[in-house]
Amino acid sequence: MALIQDVLEIVRKRNRNEPEFLQAVTEVLESIRPVIDRSKKLRDARILERLVEPERLIQFRVPWIDDKGQIQVNRGFRVQMNSALGPYKGGLRFHPTVYAGIIKFLAFEQVFKNSLTGLPMGGGKGGSDFDPKGKSDREVMRFCQSFMTELFRHIGPNTDVPAGDIGVGGREIGYLFGQYKRLANEFTGVLTGKGLNWGGSLIRPEATGYGAVYFAQEMLKTRDETIEGKVCTVSGAGNAAQYTVEKLLQCGAKPVSMSDSSGYIYDKNGITEEKLAFVMSIKNVRRGRINEYAKKFRGSKYVAGQRPWGIKCDCAFPCATENEITAEDAKKLVNNGCYLVSEAANMPSVPAAVDLFVQKKILFGPGKAANAGGVATSGLEMSQNSMRLPWPREEVDSRLRHIMSTIFKISWETAEEYGEPGNLVVGANIAGFVKVADAMLDQGVV
Ligand code: NDP
Repeated sequence: MALIQDVLEIVRKRNRNEPEFLQAVTEVLESIRPVIDRSKKLRDARILERLVEPERLIQFRVPWIDDKGQIQVNRGFRVQMNSALGPYKGGLRFHPTVYAGIIKFLAFEQVFKNSLTGLPMGGGKGGSDFDPKGKSDREVMRFCQSFMTELFRHIGPNTDVPAGDIGVGGREIGYLFGQYKRLANEFTGVLTGKGLNWGGSLIRPEATGYGAVYFAQEMLKTRDETIEGKVCTVSGAGNAAQYTVEKLLQCGAKPVSMSDSSGYIYDKNGITEEKLAFVMSIKNVRRGRINEYAKKFRGSKYVAGQRPWGIKCDCAFPCATENEITAEDAKKLVNNGCYLVSEAANMPSVPAAVDLFVQKKILFGPGKAANAGGVATSGLEMSQNSMRLPWPREEVDSRLRHIMSTIFKISWETAEEYGEPGNLVVGANIAGFVKVADAMLDQGVV
């Protein structure tokens, strides 16, 4: 008890003004308390004190020239959090809200998530406060080239393998890869989420969203239910959200909302494949706003400046960003009969929302378990790159399904073992932690 509080106090002092990092660390440390209490070995080895300190944090200047010939300066980051299980692995986020605290929280979560996948990957994360919105393709390319001109010396296929996250999709990965190849004079699997004809894996674009739905299916099985016919609210309209909606449709569920940072759309008739194709063209090709949906499809409406959590639903899939489900939103969801939340986004529910979901015993899949399909399939992309052999779609998808069901199973069983049946927050945190901690013990004081 005292030890956890002491470590949290150190984290608070050393990482002032980084509330997201503190939030992520607090949740994990509080749930792994019983493991620490049982193990003098872990306490003596100062595993917690080491876990909360990144192995390396790189911050760098990213100067680039915009289309008007003006010089712009952004800040780049890579946090190499923990390499006990393998090379650092985790996405890059380009968003104006990015600062060290966001990248550190994401890197910390990534350590346990990657451990849960069962694949040999350590945890890292990176990004920049660069905002790709409203930038031309040329500007995005120049930014990516400048970003990689520094990052390339810190990464490599056996050292650190970044991928995408918010604001970093296929276009950005292409520009980043091109610059890495040019600087390193090497065509290797240094990034995942690559294009299909140059080393990418089938199913990688779909993996985060598909995985979150597979995880939801596993949760529903414990109540002898399926996702078919369920009314589902989804937030976000990017990669995670699009493929969550696609998989929900394939499974016969009824997704009714999507959103972006300006507001949400609600379609009481349900988002169909045709409507989803329109969203994909708005977001991936024209890079427009979600409100265009409501202008195009009769029976739908757009609500500016709000999130979709007041809509009556059976299941909710937050797929946008951290802390997008407030305590108030959580109450609305539960009072409206929502009994499943599968987090495709990272840390989308504030701590009070998580507490409510756990207390009400709804089926709650925390991000580090429910959205692990993205990084798991990145791991599968790395395997294919090492073998120089692409796997067919069915093979990657069946491995993804298997990994999601295994993550569910170990999280569920671990929660039971520690006297918290059904609490997947505790189950996922402990199961992810134990493997990392054991590897750290084996590898000595490093
Ligand atoms: P995208 O950039 O493709 O899409 C992000 C979506 O979320 C957009 O619709 C965006 O709206 C919205 N959004 C972003 N920031 C905010 C904000 N502050 N408030 C409201 N809406 C916001 O990113 P992804 O879909 O890849 O990522 C979404 C979430 O999934 C993130 O939490 C990410 O960490 C997580 N995740 C992603 C993985 C992946 O493989 N891509 C893997 C695991 C987790 P707008 O366009 O207006 O900014």
